[in-house]
This record gives sequence, C-alpha cells and structure tokens, in this order.
Amino acid sequence: MGAQQVADRFAALYGAEPEGVWAAPGRVNLIGEHTDYNDGFVMPFALPHQALAAVSRRTDGILRLHSADVEGGIAELRLDALAPESDREWTAYPAGVLWALREAGHQITGADVHLSSTVPTGAGLSSSAALEIVVALALNDLYDLGLPRWKLARLCQRAENVYVGAPTGIMDQTASACCEQGHALFLDTRDLSQQQIPFDLAAEGLRLLVVDTRVKHAHSGGEYGRRRAGCEKGAALLGVDALRDIPYDELDAALARLGDEEEVVRLVRHVVTEDQRVERTVALLRAGDPRSIGPVLTEGHASLRDDFRISCPELDLVVDTALAHGALGARMTGGGFGGSAIVLAEATDVDTLTKTIEEAFAAASFTPPRVFEAVPSAGARRLV
Ligand code: ADP
Ligand code: MG
Repeated sequence: MGAQQVADRFAALYGAEPEGVWAAPGRVNLIGEHTDYNDGFVMPFALPHQALAAVSRRTDGILRLHSADVEGGIAELRLDALAPESDREWTAYPAGVLWALREAGHQITGADVHLSSTVPTGAGLSSSAALEIVVALALNDLYDLGLPRWKLARLCQRAENVYVGAPTGIMDQTASACCEQGHALFLDTRDLSQQQIPFDLAAEGLRLLVVDTRVKHAHSGGEYGRRRAGCEKGAALLGVDALRDIPYDELDAALARLGDEEEVVRLVRHVVTEDQRVERTVALLRAGDPRSIGPVLTEGHASLRDDFRISCPELDLVVDTALAHGALGARMTGGGFGGSAIVLAEATDVDTLTKTIEEAFAAASFTPPRVFEAVPSAGARRLV
C-alpha cells in the first residue's frame, strides 16, 4: 500500500484529491518496559509498518473519517460536539487528536481523512499511536501550527488518555513521531529529552524478530492499572516523586525500607533495574557492541515475568525457545499478558529460529504466532 493508492482512495471517497499524504510508524520497544509512567527511560525504535493518512482541510467545523481497515463507511463528526469518552469506536483515536489540538487553542476548522495502516492492531506495536501521530502531523502541516514533534506526541497522548480514555505513557507517540531510520530512540520520559542511538542491525549481521503471539488476555487493562498504582504506592512509601528517583545503587536499601510490602518490593525492583538496563543498552550500543545487549534483553524478560508478573505462557515459550536455539537475547515487549516478544539473533540463525518457534507453538496447541522482522525505520513524515 503506497501513498498514491491512499490518495486515489481518498479521491474516490471524498470526490477531490487530498492536500497531502502522511505516514507514521508503529514501534517496538527494545528495552525499558513499564518505566514510562515512572518517569524513567525507554528505548523504542520505529517499525517499517506504518499508518498512512490522506488529508484535506475543511472550513465548516466537520470532521470526516474513513479507514480502509475497518468495515463501514465514512464517519461524520462535528468538531464542536467532540467530548472525551463519548466515542467507543476506532474514530475516537483520530477525533481525539482534533479535540486535543482545539482544546490546546489551535484553530482547526475541519478535515477529511482517509487512513490505511499496516501496523497490526492490538499486538503491542502501537497501531493506535501511529493513527494519532499521522493525523496530528497532517494537521500540523496543513494548518501551519508549527508544533515540534515532542509536542505533537504530548497532544496525542492526551487524546488517548482523556478523549479515548486509555491510560498510556508518552513512549508510543514519541516513538512514532521522533524515531529515525537505523536508530533506537533513548527517551527520558521525565523531561522528554531524547538521543538517537545507532542501531543498524543489518550492518552488524544481526536481525531482530517480532513474534506476535496473537493472544490478548482479557484482564490486561485492570492489571495495568494495578501495576501502575503499585508503582505509585512504592514511590510514595519511599518519599520520591517517581521510582525513577531511586538510584540503582540505592535499590537494596530502598527495598529494605519497604519491609513486608511484597508486591511493591517486586514492582520497585523491576522498575529500578529496568531503568539501569536501558542505560546499559545505550552504553553497549554506543560502544559498537550490539551483540552484547542480548543478555540484557533476556534479563529484562525475567524481571517482567518474575517481578512485574505480566508475562504469559505464550510469551515465555517464545523467549525460552529462542534462547534454547541460539538467539542472542529475547524478551516480551509491550504491556504484557499477550502481545509480542522480540528476539535478537544472528542473521544466519533467523530462519531456523522462526521455524522452531512456530513448531513449539504448534506442539503446545497455541494459536500460530505471526513472525516478522523489525528493521529500525523512519519516524513520521510527509510523503506527498
Ligand atoms: P495497539 O496500539 O497496541 O495496536 P490499541 O488497543 O492501543 O492497540 O489500539 C488499537 C485500536 O486502534 C484498534 O482497536 C482500533 O480502534 C484503532 N486502530 C488501529 N489501527 C487502525 C486502523 N488502521 N483503522 C482504524 N482503527 C485503527
Ligand atoms: Mg496503543
């Protein structure tokens, strides 16, 4: 699916050529899981999978939305009637972006939008942020808003948190807006400062697989809220604004102070060690030693499984099978209880690994996983 096809479909739907076509990618998080709502570090990179949007302005206060990926026709919404949590459909994501922009005082008078995305939905690869960012970037350009990318990300996060009503950190939107090809994005979620870290897998003879387990365990929403609340409790008990403020070398002392708060101890230990794993990963990549991040990724998985307790049998099977068959490192990525795992491997081992993982799923009678390669790709941009 290319820019021309999306523009042609727009013209067929709305009766005129679009003013432009924009793209925004999904992402995987290399390391730094459940750190973003603790003011910590994350390290996503953009996927080649992306959402495309063909967009034109309107002047009559109407927003028209269409997605090639959803059954149904054109949705028509009035901008002055947009209200948080009023929409339970997919249209809440793009509509929320217009709501957030207008609420921040920007003059948006309407739009016609046609969307088409190759980011798998609900696989923990952030199809929602891709949708939001592609719309935000289009409006930023068309309405000459002059907003920097980090600010577009903030507004899209607000759209998702307040308008859609989904609690998420700032990572997904920032990754989609700010990533660069051949790099991972080292992001400090406290002040949004960011550094592009070279991560050119192909040049090193490496490949990174994403294994979408295609499971989404139903209780994940409530479990996310519970982890988040537990982290906040830990910060409060330790007298800091966020767990980010516990230095790694003071972790043992901090845990001792938490005494018999067993669950909080585990959550705090994950977050503090995970921030340190991000810093180690950055240092290793800067030193030109990408193979050595493998064990760091694997440690991250053990921490999410044993301390944060958000893995599931399918994710553990991917990781265990990959490691038993020569992968350099593997871990679950995303919110947990399903979604995707990543596997870092020598390029020459990837075909065998893929086959072995598929066979292991078949032997366990799990739904066949979807396996694809993640090449660190460009962030959001205008195509036409
Ligand atoms: P993730 O972001 O991990 O893929 P979310 O639950 O946050 O999962 O977002 C998925 C939702 O985003 C979908 O259920 C749908 O409402 C919306 N969405 C994503 N891609 C599209 C698309 N191409 N067309 C319409 N809606 C989409
Ligand atoms: Mg999402």
